[in-house]
Amino acid sequence: MQIDRRKALGLGAAGAAVLALPQIMVRAAHADVPKTDVGNAGFNRFMLGDFEVTTILDGLRPGEGPHPVFGQDQPAEAVAELMRANLLPDDRFVNGFTPTLVNTGSELILFDSGLGAGGRENGLGQLASRLQASGYRPEDVSVVVVTHMHGDHIGGLMDNGAPAFANARYVMGRAEFDFWTAPERLSGPTEGSAKVVEASVKPLAEKTSFVEDGGEVAPGIRAMAAFGHTPGHLAFTVESSGKVLVITADAANHYVVSLQRPDWHVRFDADKAMAAATRKKLFDMIATDRLPFIGYHMPFPAVGYVEKLETGYRYLPETYQLDL
Ligand SMILES: [Zn+2]
Repeated sequence: MQIDRRKALGLGAAGAAVLALPQIMVRAAHADVPKTDVGNAGFNRFMLGDFEVTTILDGLRPGEGPHPVFGQDQPAEAVAELMRANLLPDDRFVNGFTPTLVNTGSELILFDSGLGAGGRENGLGQLASRLQASGYRPEDVSVVVVTHMHGDHIGGLMDNGAPAFANARYVMGRAEFDFWTAPERLSGPTEGSAKVVEASVKPLAEKTSFVEDGGEVAPGIRAMAAFGHTPGHLAFTVESSGKVLVITADAANHYVVSLQRPDWHVRFDADKAMAAATRKKLFDMIATDRLPFIGYHMPFPAVGYVEKLETGYRYLPETYQLDL
């Protein structure tokens, strides 16, 4: 449907003539300007106390959905209706992948590694290049934290058979590592993911310290058990000079469906009921304490807040709260 702007603005013929003239002049002055092929910077930086925090977009993947990946136990129309109510398309959505980099002043800590080389033909796997654009080299990273062992989080750990972050030590969840490296995972429904773990995570085991709930990554940064999405999925709290941020990883993966309807099943949650319980516990805390959080699949730059509603939570992107 075309909207006639002059009618919409209530302008008559005289108004139209006045409006038309500058448009013609603008076109003549700016003819034949080729569009730039320079994309968005793909990183976003702010301070949290004395820590510098950077979220880096590994890439965006448009596709069909969000149903049935999100709201798997719901009729398609229920998910479609929720999308329309939030001014979103009801049959297409974009999934983003956003690792986080924290410079504490003594350590440069990367949370998750994107899809790596395997994602590049689809415009994903841009973490390494955007890390450099943000002012750091891969060899500057001193710690890589793995929130859980799905391919979109561990795909960038190795590059051509060698560690992509040559000088890093690693921090991973004990339960997560034990689950994915158990020999029986290499067959059945876990086969695909277990093979990625074997190729991308196992070679790093000697440089890895394994944490459990409450374990420290570095001063100010602690693991928090957030099991359900995977058996050993971890969230993290980041605290500096009295400011606190939560890295929620994959506890909620669609900013509308997962947060407004936290009980709805998500195909990628290994234990649907446990994932829902974790989601509500974690986001209740984030809402009550009014904390900023970074969600790996939240809309880039992936930093926001939540307001508790009667059912679920409303996602509020960070605007200037962290600039003050
Ligand atoms: Zn993920």
